[in-house]
Amino acid sequence: MSIMSIIGFSYVVSATLFILGLKLLGSPATARKGNALSAIGMLIAVVVTLLDQGIVDFRYIAIAITVGGLIGLWAARSVAMTSMPEMVALLNGFGGVASLLVGWAAITPDASNLVLITIFLSILIGGVTFTGSIVAYGKLSEKLVGRAIMFKGQAIVNSLVIAAILIAAGLFVHDPLKTDYLYLAIGLSVVLGVLVVIPIGGADMPVVISLLNSYSGLAACAAGFAINNNLLIVAGALVGASGIILTQIMCRAMNRSLSNVLFSGFSAVKTMNMKIEGEVKPITPDDAYYMLEAASTIAIIPGYGMAVAQAQHAVKELQELLEANGAEVVYGVHPVAGRMPGHMNVLLAEADVSYDLLLEMADINPRMASVDVAIVIGANDVVNPAAREMEGSPIYGMPVINVDQARTVFVLKRSMASGFAGIDNPLFFKENTRMIFGDAKETLSHLIREFSN
Ligand code: NDP
Repeated sequence: MSIMSIIGFSYVVSATLFILGLKLLGSPATARKGNALSAIGMLIAVVVTLLDQGIVDFRYIAIAITVGGLIGLWAARSVAMTSMPEMVALLNGFGGVASLLVGWAAITPDASNLVLITIFLSILIGGVTFTGSIVAYGKLSEKLVGRAIMFKGQAIVNSLVIAAILIAAGLFVHDPLKTDYLYLAIGLSVVLGVLVVIPIGGADMPVVISLLNSYSGLAACAAGFAINNNLLIVAGALVGASGIILTQIMCRAMNRSLSNVLFSGFSAVKTMNMKIEGEVKPITPDDAYYMLEAASTIAIIPGYGMAVAQAQHAVKELQELLEANGAEVVYGVHPVAGRMPGHMNVLLAEADVSYDLLLEMADINPRMASVDVAIVIGANDVVNPAAREMEGSPIYGMPVINVDQARTVFVLKRSMASGFAGIDNPLFFKENTRMIFGDAKETLSHLIREFSN
């Protein structure tokens, strides 16, 4: 067998492992196995590419792997669980800039027009992904304002930038020695990345995260064509396609079309202006304990605050105590709860909550009217009934978990502050809602102590 056919065969094995891995990632029960298979696929791909000595000098690769590995190790060890979404946004951005650099490095004066076009695509999509992801990182980490930033003539400015990029692309492909056009296109594509992400904000951010994930795959796919690497094409296409599917799922979860999310801006109008009626009724964990003790069906709805409080283990402990007390406990997981797709599933899996108990929004909502107590743990936007009741609300029409239809609702949070979307929540003022103020983990620990006594 020639070395080329060994490389080719290994790439097929890697690609198969990626596809199998993705398939297994589709269910929480098999996700760990899927992750491991994909990682093995990637290991094979990296080793085989390195063995293919003609590609790059080994010394540079060794230095790059060591430096990159050390930075990755440090980042993975030091990042807090609540900062994972920002980390994912940054990683998308790194994927984008890597494709940009690969495309750039692949330019040769004698490259065919087709190769030049793919090079250009990897640079363009990579550039947009890079700065778009940096802006998304800024919004998620609250280093930048989270709301949509819109200005007059935004659509015209964006269109002009895109037109200028296309003209620069045409001139560059026509004469690859004219690198000024290339630099112009690189500069404009990084500007475009900022321009396309700033008008997206508030509750629409999950879409932008998954869309950028998809872009990073498309950029890698184009880079694969540029350097004629089949595995990069396959891996990029897989990431691109799965990112688009996830984007669609996120859009559906918010009942918005992709174009509506991308171009209309999420307006953070305070629903308080829309006059919320009712009064807030705070109770202590001691009072809550008596009601929980008497409840026979309980739904737990986790949100971003559970991640902040790192309360997932306490949640699991309370669930077991409630079950031991004879109650039936289920979890309601909203697709955009937390700050990244699957955020709540990851945390609950870490605490070993059984997957069978996790119900999707469509499954928990029809049962809600028969739930004695819905315990909302650090969730806010995803349980906001304004989405159903207040026509002028920015989240009007977004499907939410209808906790207000349960007999009693406990909301565990520290204050009356709004959630990520920056809008007020009429749930807190409903007749059947009781607010339990404080850090979610502390409140849960208090309840656990009561049950254990
Ligand atoms: P929200 O951001 O709406 O609300 C979280 C709540 O948690 C806050 O109101 C906060 O209130 C409370 N909280 C924070 N820390 C604690 C703590 N230590 N103990 C108790 N409570 C705490 O979260 P949701 O999960 O309901 O909604 C997710 C939002 O994020 C949606 O708007 C979604 O669109 C957006 N988003 C989702 C992404 C995804 O992919 N899932 C990505 C990007 C954005 P207080 O300060 O009073 O304690």
